Amino acid sequence: MITAETKTLDIKIQGRIQGVGFRPFIYRLASDHNLHGWVNNQTSHVKIHVEGMKKNVDSFVKNITAKAPAISVIDYLITSDSKFEAYKNFSIIKSIDSSNAVTEISPDLAVCDDCLKDIKAMSRRNSYSFTNCTNCGPRFSIIKDLPYDRPKTTMKDFNMCPECLEEYKSPMNRRFHAQPNSCSHCGPVYTMTTPKEKLTDIKSILTECTKIILSGGIVAIKGIGGFHLACDPFNSKAVAKLRAVKNRDKKPFAVMFSSVKEIYKYAEVSKTEEESLKSVRAPIVILKIRPGSTISSGITSSLNTIGCFLPYTPFHYMLMENPDISAMVLTSGNISSEPIEIDNDSALNRFSGFCDAVLTYNRDIQNRTDDSVVRTINGKERILRRSRGYAPESITTGTNVEGILATGSELKTCFCIGKENKAVLSQHIGDLKNFETLEFYRESLDRYYNLYRFTPSLIAHDLHPDYISTSYFDNYSVPKIAIQHHHAHIASCMAENGVSNDVIGFSFDGTGLGDDGHIWGGEIFTCNFVNYKRHFHFKYIPLPGGDKAAAEPWRMAVSALYSATGREFLEMNLPFLREIPGTDIEILLDIIDKKINSPLTSSVGRLFDAVSAMLGLCLYSSFDAEAPMRLEAVIDDVPETNEHYPFQIEKEISLDSSFRAIIKDIIGGTAAAVISTKFHNTIVEIICSSADLLREETGINKAALSGGVFMNGYLLKKTETRLKKMGFEAFTHSKVPSNDGGLALGQLVIAAHRRNQGRSNVCV
Ligand code: ZN
Ligand code: ZN
Ligand code: FE
Repeated sequence: MITAETKTLDIKIQGRIQGVGFRPFIYRLASDHNLHGWVNNQTSHVKIHVEGMKKNVDSFVKNITAKAPAISVIDYLITSDSKFEAYKNFSIIKSIDSSNAVTEISPDLAVCDDCLKDIKAMSRRNSYSFTNCTNCGPRFSIIKDLPYDRPKTTMKDFNMCPECLEEYKSPMNRRFHAQPNSCSHCGPVYTMTTPKEKLTDIKSILTECTKIILSGGIVAIKGIGGFHLACDPFNSKAVAKLRAVKNRDKKPFAVMFSSVKEIYKYAEVSKTEEESLKSVRAPIVILKIRPGSTISSGITSSLNTIGCFLPYTPFHYMLMENPDISAMVLTSGNISSEPIEIDNDSALNRFSGFCDAVLTYNRDIQNRTDDSVVRTINGKERILRRSRGYAPESITTGTNVEGILATGSELKTCFCIGKENKAVLSQHIGDLKNFETLEFYRESLDRYYNLYRFTPSLIAHDLHPDYISTSYFDNYSVPKIAIQHHHAHIASCMAENGVSNDVIGFSFDGTGLGDDGHIWGGEIFTCNFVNYKRHFHFKYIPLPGGDKAAAEPWRMAVSALYSATGREFLEMNLPFLREIPGTDIEILLDIIDKKINSPLTSSVGRLFDAVSAMLGLCLYSSFDAEAPMRLEAVIDDVPETNEHYPFQIEKEISLDSSFRAIIKDIIGGTAAAVISTKFHNTIVEIICSSADLLREETGINKAALSGGVFMNGYLLKKTETRLKKMGFEAFTHSKVPSNDGGLALGQLVIAAHRRNQGRSNVCV
């Protein structure tokens, strides 16, 4: 009955509200408020119709935002008066697939405490590995299409048993409309395959798995986003074997610990780091190793940090309940730079040869996600690799990015698609030069197109014509726009921080094609989302051997010293040169002189390589960013200092005098730690001095730091702090990686802004 005291409303809510228990929450809230009507999922939003007493309806609306599930994100909520239909109760009605608009897809979530209690209780979920509820469990990894309902996930083939169905249908139940809901009677199960037998009983699997790990074996375990390889981190033979089979010489392994308390034994954990570890995203967190820790250098590759994470599936918890397995190496199930394995047959094929057991389960992984990696720098979580738990959460941009596909970089590729004002950055895909990874890229593009009802109307790609992420789209008959790599880095930082006007941008990385055909990587711009002006750059130095110079940091050391001293440095008996065959050095100088395969570069990343090699820390690199990581790691032992080396800022920033001072220090016996600190400080000084100069010249008071070089904790912390002290608004990355993993976001927003300005003429 309609009276002055009643009210009927339609409510439309958009945000991350699917797969996070939002409709059950609305149902319960409506019941609490004595309201009738319905709620449903539409592709782009949740729609609610409520009828009831005016004060109840108003309080209901208020409480939607106040009491929403923790993992949900409400972007907007619109209410409009509606027609009274005299509903008899409140119900959840069938989802409607009606729109092409964006819907947030929830990332996969770590198992919740309530579900952990369930697997310990005497029930049909006792020791059940796939226990989940609306607050936890797989999401993105099982979604095939939207709206997010069971038939559109890889749970489609599992029929719920009567008890599970009852929970699924009961609005007051924690599993109400939990799409992956299942139990040991009706859901997926693990199978363990060993050379001798196949096991399906979970208790026997856990016993066997424990036995293998503790006796130095390797087990392949199918996880949420892909397979892992596990072994005992305290067994050096097992670790060495794992390295050998993974074809992974020295790259540090991540270790899963049973609790934060266990991690404390080996690493220092700050409050922010603990929050990251315990979050529903459950990333690998890079932590500083405690002095005197017993964790072997075979795991950490003698760095001063270790990647740690906590169990995030019921299976991890059950396995690590055994105090003997308080830690295990848990590394991506792949060989070298291939994408993480997700297929059962292929895993059995590839892993059986060297694993003592392979654990599969009978539900497909639809969307592959690797473990995400984060690190706290200056009190803030920074994403180094963005995948499980984070992707495909969107980033709200200040402009219409609809229809734009940004294709990313080549080595740490992620692509990005634009829906309305949202940028949806894909999960970490990897090195496109690897055939399987390119296949993963292609397949993911298709899947995102389908999930987000997306058709590209503009393609933004890197300026480099030879990047596979550029050439792959050669045959697409869609307008294209080439974006300079370092401009895209800064734009990415601006976009994630919601900055729209001009900034002073510091774009420091390993490599990216510049407008002048040289390899840039030490660029100081003033820029906005449309244009940039290059004010300063690091002095060009030959990169002898091209790509090979990145893999062999000694080459860059020789090139930098040759540039700074001529042949003089050869007479100085520098220790690192004694490690390199004399003929190699002569050949290198010869190709520099003759300009053979020695492109010019302004890369700051390569300067970190050079100094790392000069100090003998890393002459040949066996994993990405090894040289700068080792250079940063040695700083550990030095008391805080602001001392730095001399440099010149003109149009080019020259470190020639720095390099001359560094070799003097080396010969004089100064500790590597001190030299490294002074070198890092030199880069900080250069940033602060040039920021000051440009503020004077342009009046711009915002500074943005981007590019892989800013994954360096010492550098980022010191630079950010100093700039803020100087009165700058300093912007850094935290939501997307500062390396090429975040590049596509920058490409996307630049393309959008140029399109807004009718600058499609820059399309190529
Ligand atoms: Zn749960
Ligand atoms: Zn069941
Ligand atoms: Fe880059």
